[in-house]
Amino acid sequence: MTTLLGLSLAELQAFCLEQGFQKFTAKQLCDWMYQKRIGDFDAMTNLSLKIRARLNDIAQTGFTTLADCQTSTDGTKKYLFPIEGKGHVESVYIPDGDRATLCVSCQCGCKMGCRFCVTGQQGFHGSLTAAEILNQIFSIPESQELTNIVFMGMGEPMDNYDAIRRTLDVLTADWGLAWSPHRITVSTVGITPMLQRLIEETQVDVAVSLHNPFPDQRQALMPMEKAYPIKETIALLRRYNWRGQRRISFEYTMFGGLNDSTRHAAELVRLLKGLPCRVNLIRFHASPGTPYRTSDQQTINTFRDYLNAHGITCTLRASRGEDIMAACGLLAGKKKQEQNL
Ligand code: SF4
Repeated sequence: MTTLLGLSLAELQAFCLEQGFQKFTAKQLCDWMYQKRIGDFDAMTNLSLKIRARLNDIAQTGFTTLADCQTSTDGTKKYLFPIEGKGHVESVYIPDGDRATLCVSCQCGCKMGCRFCVTGQQGFHGSLTAAEILNQIFSIPESQELTNIVFMGMGEPMDNYDAIRRTLDVLTADWGLAWSPHRITVSTVGITPMLQRLIEETQVDVAVSLHNPFPDQRQALMPMEKAYPIKETIALLRRYNWRGQRRISFEYTMFGGLNDSTRHAAELVRLLKGLPCRVNLIRFHASPGTPYRTSDQQTINTFRDYLNAHGITCTLRASRGEDIMAACGLLAGKKKQEQNL
């Protein structure tokens, strides 16, 4: 069975010609899947009955149904998708005024092992295909309302580069969703070779998970610091022009007593000086199994004000969906536990 979701127009054309269909059938498939979000060949009414029957025999679109949905009192929704042979992943839908953002996952579990992250503590169970990533975007009821996509869910996008690249092509190409790349943010712990490719091959915004400016302390939180030091990631970022429309941001989760002192803020300023960027502070969602706690509000405000006063644009990201445990990995982990019972 060939899965069509994630294929480019050229790849769909090759597929159609192989099957003896007309080349323009590929454009029709793009319209149905990528514009109309239709995953059922029988509903693709401008394809002949013969083509639909053949497609049902040899292909699948790759659209699947949700396993679960939880809705927060603030409107945030957490969706759970089954991934065949790998487990489950979560996507979080965050409506905010005229913005509607979906945070998608790219792997079942994660190899990066960040100490504060529930997903990181669940081990790695496999990377998602482009179809499995796109399905999160296309199969939620709010798919047509989305204004932004962030790759900040389960998994490290730069550890699944080819599927991410393919997904970005579908989201930004004329034959796909034709979105501006600036509506998309890809996050990474800073795997530099792949980050370099992302910067050079796409125009999407980039978010680097920083969390601590001191290498030894960052490594204690994020083991990948050893292989990909944040200093090298920042040196790479400095080679590109971030003064145009494209944005670079740094994610900084505030852990009480761990990374929230003025000494940390001063080192962060030193590290990022001269790089046009913003720092997003994130209040830590206390979660089961992690020993960390969040910083108090006064400390967060002082940290933010220090950065802003020293020329680094810094904002505190609003906490959303706390009542449904919107931090990544919690719902998928729960599902895994249920299945193991
Ligand atoms: Fe992986 Fe991101 Fe969790 Fe780190 S924070 S373990 S990169 S999912």
